[in-house]
Amino acid sequence: TNFSSLGLQDNLLKAITDLGFETPSDVQIKSIPILLEQKTDLVALAQTGTGKTAAFGFPLLQHTDTNTKTTQGLILSPTRELCLQITSELEQYAKYIDKLNIVAIYGGASLQDQAKQINRGAQIIVATPGRMKDMIKRKIIDISKIEYCVLDEADEMLNMGFYEDITEILSHSPKEKSTWLFSATMPKEVSGIAKKFMNKPVEITV
Ligand code: AMP
Repeated sequence: TNFSSLGLQDNLLKAITDLGFETPSDVQIKSIPILLEQKTDLVALAQTGTGKTAAFGFPLLQHTDTNTKTTQGLILSPTRELCLQITSELEQYAKYIDKLNIVAIYGGASLQDQAKQINRGAQIIVATPGRMKDMIKRKIIDISKIEYCVLDEADEMLNMGFYEDITEILSHSPKEKSTWLFSATMPKEVSGIAKKFMNKPVEITV
């Protein structure tokens, strides 16, 4: 299997070549075709280091409409470090996509600076739950039109006590969207949020 047979468009394939990725990983082979072809929810049991960022990142980038500045995709992750890491990976994958803004939103840094970036228009937001909730409540961020929501490292987010924040954030998002949940483990708390927020998810394990 190679990346082009997964259905990825040329501007992503070119970036993948630049990055030196030769073959897609297991989680990428299992997720990418589904996420490109179907408007579905997904639960993926996958550890870090398996290439899961690209597994949701490539389809999300391919689905993003850069003719508008509307926020279309939200990725929630447990920590500032992971948030920045995902943002920088997505920026590398998107190097041949014009007019795309990806903004990182996380605590412990200037809210005003992040608000400025949001005001320039962010089609994709990568966020930690606490700051994200805060910026939605202050009406700096509008996620009422998102089409894709990724819950990355869902088990970690719940371990860190973000259940209430996630619930609050998602209450501001449209019901009609695709939610993709990635988790290294599947305790009952995680299957609980899958049940609560997702509709007949496709399940994959790597
Ligand atoms: P992740 O599991 O998303 O944290 O990815 C782990 C690392 O593997 C990251 O540094 C990626 O840039 C890299 N990576 C992701 N997919 C591939 C691939 N198909 N081939 C080689 N490296 C990859």
